Amino acid sequence: ARGLVWLRRDLRAHDHAALYHALRSCQEVLCVFVFDRAILDALPGQDLQPRPDGLRSDRRVEFILASVQALRERLRGMGGELLVRHAVAQEEIPKLARALQVQAVFANRDDEPQALERDAQVLGALANAGISFHTFKDHCIFERDEVMTQSRTPYTVFTPYKRAWLAKVDDFYLKSYPVHHHAQALMRMPEVAAGGGELAGLATAHEALPTLQALGFAPTNLPSLQIPAGTEGAAAMFERFFERIDRYDKTRDYPAVRGPSYLGVHLRFGTVSIRELAAPAHQLALQGNSGAATWVSELIWRDFYLQLLSHHPQVGQGKSFKAVYDRIHWHQGKHADALFAAWCEGRTGYPLVDAAMRQLLTTGYMHNRLRMVAASFLCKDLGLDWRRGEAWFAQHLNDFELASNNGGWQWASSSGCDAQPWFRIFNPVTQSERFDAEGKFIRRYVPEVAALPDKLIHAPWRASPLELEAAGIRLGEHYPQPLVDHAQAREASLARYGVVRGTE
Ligand code: FAD
Repeated sequence: ARGLVWLRRDLRAHDHAALYHALRSCQEVLCVFVFDRAILDALPGQDLQPRPDGLRSDRRVEFILASVQALRERLRGMGGELLVRHAVAQEEIPKLARALQVQAVFANRDDEPQALERDAQVLGALANAGISFHTFKDHCIFERDEVMTQSRTPYTVFTPYKRAWLAKVDDFYLKSYPVHHHAQALMRMPEVAAGGGELAGLATAHEALPTLQALGFAPTNLPSLQIPAGTEGAAAMFERFFERIDRYDKTRDYPAVRGPSYLGVHLRFGTVSIRELAAPAHQLALQGNSGAATWVSELIWRDFYLQLLSHHPQVGQGKSFKAVYDRIHWHQGKHADALFAAWCEGRTGYPLVDAAMRQLLTTGYMHNRLRMVAASFLCKDLGLDWRRGEAWFAQHLNDFELASNNGGWQWASSSGCDAQPWFRIFNPVTQSERFDAEGKFIRRYVPEVAALPDKLIHAPWRASPLELEAAGIRLGEHYPQPLVDHAQAREASLARYGVVRGTE
């Protein structure tokens, strides 16, 4: 039999569930990646102003392109081929499967609502042509119904979920799929592709990759950031992280410190497999390494939010997990729009929040502690709808993952399951003093206030005129006055959230 492996968010040729199953069950296996117009054409781009050349910039598209290129070289080295198309995937896959005369298409599961809809359509079209469609768990350790409460309901609280996850995990779930054992089934283009009709264009289509420009995108600063693409990039980053994993629990909350792994983007696009990260970390954790145990816990959060989205798809479509939170009246209108723009662009007058938002704009990354601070500031200090912030993060985060981003936003806005209680409100100055005490991170992204002494850098408006002058700062000119007064904003937030009182 001949099989087609459709790669989506799993851009690697090792430890890959769909590829492994295809190679085991077919004599001939081809691989394809589609730059899906349905996804790419809808991306708003990451530019603050529209570009004169009509292109958009998006670091993720560039990351994917580089990773696809590396993957193709890898597959060719193994005797195979990666077809690369720029089309609407749900039309292209059935067309290609027919043209290549395959009996089956294999893919790894994606449980985001839009992906499920796309896959259901592909399944239908393939079935009409007598071609089967097989999907596999690959993106997480446990999916869907695999970790459930004793009464067979999905968990909605993290700690018991984590306990059940750790009780269930073993070598079976952590071992990798040995793709290389069966690699002889990988094939280059079949003879048939040189024919005419439906096959016209296929033979040449696999020669060159589309350029970034042909996809509609302009080059970004991705090459200057320390996130090498492809599986080699992921492996190098993991190796470096593994050397400091012992300290992860102590360093992870300090944005100026190289504490976290920065592997989110690789997990997002599958240039690393979750199993190759979780297995050695879990091993270390079992030996009593508290840094590794904390890191595994973060990987479990990822599974937690993925299963949550699969059980409650409405949260990914603009609904609060706790419906009563949809009754909150958020600020709207021109003033709200101005507040939102200031938040997006890092002009709130709160240095840590501004540093965070500028880190996101200039690198596509934001430290976890700062995601919590910036998200809380948006909904609880500015009184803006968390969905606006969620969309901004979705547009800019390299590691944007619908389940985790939504989970994080609903945690911060208190509307989620197992969220921050609505009456608990981060103080952005206290957070700054605690997690960036020396202002190192602030100085990196908000040079306007760099000359202030450490104790004043967290709240420049508390500096005396003399102190401001000594630092060469005129507030409202060089750096904004704070958009809101935190104490007042806090009271307003408690009043706004009052509609949910008694429901918690
Ligand atoms: P590390 O600290 O090295 O953690 C390793 C991996 O564990 C991460 O790459 C990620 O896959 C997973 N992880 C860590 N923390 C969490 C968490 N709280 N929830 C789910 N998974 C986690 N994470 C995303 O992957 N994509 C998002 O779009 C996203 N949006 C977020 C939005 C908000 C408002 C908040 C508060 C958090 C969000 N997170 C998101 C979770 C977390 O901030 C990032 O996973 C982490 O900062 C990524 O950096 P890292 O790879 O260096 O993480």
